[in-house]
Order: sequence, then C-alpha cells, then structure tokens
Amino acid sequence: MSGDDGPSSKLMFGLFFGMTVFVIIVCSTFSYMCMKRRAMRIRERADLERQIQALRQRREQLLTKDQPCRLEEEAIESLPRRTVGKDSTGSNADEKFESAITCGVCLDDYKAGDVVIQLQCTHQFHDHCIVPWFRTADKCPFCNRCARLSNASTTDTKV
Ligand SMILES: [Zn+2]
Ligand SMILES: [Zn+2]
Repeated sequence: MSGDDGPSSKLMFGLFFGMTVFVIIVCSTFSYMCMKRRAMRIRERADLERQIQALRQRREQLLTKDQPCRLEEEAIESLPRRTVGKDSTGSNADEKFESAITCGVCLDDYKAGDVVIQLQCTHQFHDHCIVPWFRTADKCPFCNRCARLSNASTTDTKV
C-alpha cells in the first residue's frame, strides 16, 4: 500500500510544480506586456513632445519672419569693401569690384580714401552711407535685391 502513496504524492508534487511554473509564466508574461505598453506610451509621449517642439519652432520662425528684415552686424561686416585710391575712378580696385564713381545713396563721387561697399547686385555705396541702411533693411536700396551673402535663396521669396 505504500506503493500507492508514492505515485500519488509524486503526482501531487508534479501538479503543484506545474501550477507554480504556469503561474510564474503567466505573471511574467503579464508584467512584460505591462512594461512594453508603458514603454510604448513613454515613446509616444516623447514623439508627441518632439512634434510640439517642432511646431513651436516653426511658429517662432513664422513670427520672426514678419519682423522687418535687417542685416546682422556680422553680415554687414562681411560685405566686400575697398578703399578708393587717389585717381578716384576705382582703376586700382579689386577685380571683383565694378568700376563706379558715384555713391547711390548720397550721390557724391567717390574720393580718395573713401571706403566703398559693393553688393552682390554690383551696386556700390559708401560704407558710412549703406551701413545705417542695413540696420533696418536687408535689400539693396537701388534694385531691391537681397544683400545677404549666405542664403541667396531668400531672393526667391519675392513675389
Ligand atoms: Zn554715399
Ligand atoms: Zn542693387
């Protein structure tokens, strides 16, 4: 009769062991799914925050676009300059400078020692005449072309 005892207790133990393993598997699967869902939710929230951030930046860009354009101080500094020589016609000027004799702002002829700025559109002005202009504008006062050297694409925005 002790033989009956052995297998039944073994069976009970096996059943108990199997139940325990089953419960552990179910629990771990459940917690894994919970963790996964939470991770997904965190990722979704991060995505949403990134999108909101991008929208905020876009809004900022659009808002600053409405403000009057002007050249930054360093952009003004980087405009090509030359000093007029004694003959005042610009024959000793850099090759990249067109020969011009009159400032488009004050309409005075260039004199020896005058510092002249030439824009991309090849229009030339006295340094002291055009710099105050570029503190409130970013376009050539003559032809209305963009004076920015870096992003020439802004000229395309003109309608
Ligand atoms: Zn001038
Ligand atoms: Zn011009």
